Amino acid sequence: MTVSTFIPTSVQCPQCDSHSIVEYKPTVYHCLKCDFEKNLSDPPKSKPTSSGPAVLGLLVGLGVVLALVL
Ligand SMILES: [Zn+2]
Repeated sequence: MTVSTFIPTSVQCPQCDSHSIVEYKPTVYHCLKCDFEKNLSDPPKSKPTSSGPAVLGLLVGLGVVLALVL
C-alpha cells in the first residue's frame, strides 16, 4: 500500500479558518493544522439484518428434525 498524496482543497476549515483541509478519504476531510475532521458520508449505524442467518438456522434445524423423523 502506497502513501496517498494529500491534495489540499479550497475548503476552509471551520475551526482554524485555514485552507489546510485535505481530502483524507473520498468522504472524509481533515485539517492539517488543527486536526479538524469532517466525515461527509457518516453512515447511519444500522444493524445487519439477522434474518438471513436466522432463516438459514431455521432451515437447518427443520432439516435435522425431518432427518430425525424420517
Ligand atoms: Zn483547521
